[in-house]
This record gives sequence, structure tokens and C-alpha cells, in this order.
Amino acid sequence: MGSEKNELSRRAFLATATAAVPVSMVVSQGAQAASAPAKDRLVDVHHHFDEKNPKYIDDFLRISDRLNLTACMLTPFAHRKVVAEAARKYPTQIIPFGYVELDAPDVAQQVKELHDMGYRGLGELEFPKKPFTDRSYDPVYELANEYSWIVLFHTGIVLRQVFDKPEDITSSRMRPVHLEEIARRFPRLTVLGAHCGNPEYEWAAEVSRWNPNVFFDLSGSTLTKMRGRLNHFQDVFWWSGVGQDTATPNNDPSAFIKLVFGTDTELDRIEGVVSSYRALFDACDVPQSTRRMILGGTMSQFLKIV
Ligand SMILES: [Zn+2]
Repeated sequence: MGSEKNELSRRAFLATATAAVPVSMVVSQGAQAASAPAKDRLVDVHHHFDEKNPKYIDDFLRISDRLNLTACMLTPFAHRKVVAEAARKYPTQIIPFGYVELDAPDVAQQVKELHDMGYRGLGELEFPKKPFTDRSYDPVYELANEYSWIVLFHTGIVLRQVFDKPEDITSSRMRPVHLEEIARRFPRLTVLGAHCGNPEYEWAAEVSRWNPNVFFDLSGSTLTKMRGRLNHFQDVFWWSGVGQDTATPNNDPSAFIKLVFGTDTELDRIEGVVSSYRALFDACDVPQSTRRMILGGTMSQFLKIV
């Protein structure tokens, strides 16, 4: 949303200040996940198309080749054609996701057009004028549900774009608890929450625990902010190996299976985010098989990347 300048400042802010098929069915199809061919492919669910870089697609493909990285490329509507074309050429590297404004009067039409062009999901939905659960947004969710799409929502604290004018944006419309209602009302959606609800990690985790079609990424500032106390997340994702009420996809041994990999950063900083995820895994004793699912296995199944 907003101008290129705003987009850039938003990203810069997030880099320093912070950080979605009926999933259950798709997950159950991939019972042999840990040994799937795509196990070592990184899948970044949170990668914004860089509209300021005219060579961006080429630059992305170089990084993608080097890191064996697939990106859900979050694409402003104005750039939908170039990304749709690139995704057709490089289907295992670029997964086209459309960025739309929930409050735009023609948003449903935009969503239909994206679907006709081969888009696979929406995101990052953010800056809504009403809470994510407002019924006026139902036409978007109904279409996405009909398409069994993956939808990435911003959750948690959000940057301030302007400081000298009134601004109608608040984090309270993007709390992770809102994803619970969306996931339940639209069960064919895969709902991804960005930034693990920063700082409402506990709410994010609990919503993911009870809703098989909800996952969160840990992009943004969290892994930096929490770097000295990453084991805190063991208290948040606490239900590893306990009880029938807290089943994990494919009976994964770890509650951390409800995380997916997302970076929300520039191309040259993606590897740094991989390292931060690995630091979290080490601090929380996340099993090797679960690590592979978080970094790419789960999303490879949803997206059917081979
Ligand atoms: Zn965000």
C-alpha cells in the first residue's frame, strides 16, 4: 500500500522495528513430508516484490538459484503482469501472490483478475480501515476460499508511515486473534499470519494450535529483539507431544511445526534470516525433521512444488 517511498520506509521500519487449500487436508496428504524431494528447498512466504529495482526479477532469480529458494512473491496489483509472466517461466522459484487493498472499491474484481492470471494467493494484507474480520471484507475472503488460496495477513505492531499528518492505521485491526475467525469461517483458506503477531506471540501460537489452516511466520524484528531469550518460544509453542486436543500436522513431534519461513527483507538479507531461524531452532531444540518442514517442507506441500 502507498507510494514506493512508503513501501521502502515500511520495509526499513520492519527490518529494524519488528516482523496462509484447506491446510489440514493438504498436510495430511504429505505424510511422508520429511523425506519429500523438496525437503531442502527454502520457501519464503513473505517476500515483497521490489518495484524500485528494474532488474529485480533477475536479481531474485540469482539469489533463488544460489539458496535453492522459492518465494511467495507479494506483488502490488500494478506489477501483476510481470510477476505472472516470470512465475510461468520459473514456476518452482516464483509463486505469485497478489497484494490488494481490502478497502479498495474494486477489490473483488482485482482478486478475480489475479486468479485468472494464475495467482496462487494474496498478501500481505495490511493497513485495513476496519478490523480484518469486518464483514465488508467477506467478498475477498469468499473468493479466496473458493480458490482454496493461501492468504498472508500482517499481524501485530505496524509501522507509522507519516508523522506530520493524521493517519487512519492501527495495529489493533490486525491482531492475530482475528485470524481465528477468518480461518473458521473460511475453512478452505490457508491463513498465514506475518510476524507471529508481534508482540502477541502467545495469541498467535494458540490460534495456530486450534486451527489446522493457520500458520505464522517469524519475519520482522522478533528474532532480533528476542535473540537473547529465544527459548521463550518454548513456552509459547508449548504443546509438543502432549494430548489429543493439540494434534500437530502429521503428528509432528513439535508444536513449532505451526511456523513457516518468512523473511520480509531485501534479497541480500535473506540468508541472515535463515540464520536467525536456525538460532531459534537451536535454542528451542526443534527436531531436525520439523526444521525442514518450517524452512520449506510445509509450504512445498501446500504449493505442490517439486
Ligand atoms: Zn507485515
